[in-house]
Amino acid sequence: MSSQPQSVPSYLHADDLGPWGNYLRQVDRVAPYLGSLSRWLETLKRPKRILIVDVPIELDNGTVAHFEGYRVQHNVSRGPGKGGVRYHQDVTLSEVMALSAWMSVKNAAVNVPYGGAKGGIRVDPRALSRGELERVTRRYTSEIGIIIGPNTDIPAPDVNTNEQIMAWMMDTYSMNQGQTATGVVTGKPITLGGSLGRREATGRGVFVVGCEAARRTGLSIEGARVAVQGFGNVGGIAARLFQEAGAKVVAVQDHTGSLYKSGGINAGALLEHVAKTGGVAGFAGAEVMANDEFWSVETDILVPAALENQITEKNAGKIRTKIIVEGANGPTTTAADDILHDKGILVIPDVVANAGGVTVSYFEWVQDFSSFFWTENEINERLERVMREAFTAVWQVSSEQKVSMRTAAFIVACKRILMAREMRGLYP
Ligand code: NAD
Repeated sequence: MSSQPQSVPSYLHADDLGPWGNYLRQVDRVAPYLGSLSRWLETLKRPKRILIVDVPIELDNGTVAHFEGYRVQHNVSRGPGKGGVRYHQDVTLSEVMALSAWMSVKNAAVNVPYGGAKGGIRVDPRALSRGELERVTRRYTSEIGIIIGPNTDIPAPDVNTNEQIMAWMMDTYSMNQGQTATGVVTGKPITLGGSLGRREATGRGVFVVGCEAARRTGLSIEGARVAVQGFGNVGGIAARLFQEAGAKVVAVQDHTGSLYKSGGINAGALLEHVAKTGGVAGFAGAEVMANDEFWSVETDILVPAALENQITEKNAGKIRTKIIVEGANGPTTTAADDILHDKGILVIPDVVANAGGVTVSYFEWVQDFSSFFWTENEINERLERVMREAFTAVWQVSSEQKVSMRTAAFIVACKRILMAREMRGLYP
């Protein structure tokens, strides 16, 4: 038997694995907790399938441009691959691999019957006309059409992709199949088999796990001080729900600036302002605050819901809060995580906290298969139940094993994935 390290694939640079390297370090952290299942650990360190495609399109000026596209299926032991498609000029294979693996972990952590997958195109969508964007989307969908499908791998929106792009993807796949297949993507418009409640689902999930964390630590939501970074789909909705439950949104930050109001910012009015102007700047109902002061505002709950790598070793020491609920993907660096842990701040990790989106995507897919659509109330009730169950399972492991909620979430998820792997056995 060879004992050489197996998890550095030949197609990445061994000395700069990028986001995939971060993911591998996270997996190594949970290895000691997996018991006999650790014999399957290498499964988690290798994507099942990677497809790299050329996406040529004719630009409006008559020239031909080529873009590089990816679809990575990290693991399908528990069900079809599931994960979004990202359009960004800096997308890399390493990034898509890591995102696909984090989808495996997230889907297993909330126990929806999916594996993990992710896709991306190295393209700046803002530089394309609508027609060019549609052609890129359709050609990419045709190219990855050999591995996606309602029972195999189900894409969804991610950074810079939206309902319209999902509609084009669904149509392209359906045309190639000769029949309408609404279940091939989620995050579709309601008129094409989309689900009620999907748009608010991630923010609602953040709110639900935030309330669970508060309840278990004896913090009352009534009067709790909340700060939110990112006032978009996730942060804006979470802020509104916390406020409706009696909390005060004392600080908000987005790419246009930071606001503070000790008595609580009116989240509903701020959402309307952002919808009109594109950012929180210029909102009359709060004081302007310097951006770097945002992190030191004294709060009970802090919701990073903007970008990755926002809480680092530079600002983690300044943070004065009790609970951090990660709405964004990857907002906290590993070094910051350790600082927050030492300060006794409870961090609810992204793989649980922002899983409301994929949970309602799962509901959308189920509704598409049965062609029977649920009411928004039914969706919200089921979402709350899934989020609470996920939180409880992770909380229990965190208490029993005396590990952070992040490590506990990875333990719960990796065990579920590897248990499925073990029970299926190796084929052939
Ligand atoms: P969005 O585009 O609706 O909002 C992003 C927000 O971040 C905006 O308010 C923007 O102003 C703010 N922002 C951007 N740059 C910033 C900066 N430098 N400093 C402070 N704020 C900045 O996006 P979203 O859908 O709300 O996603 C936010 C995060 O949540 C992302 O990490 C995303 O991957 C993650 N997420 C989203 C979903 C979903 O269903 N939308 C699901 C899971 C995870």
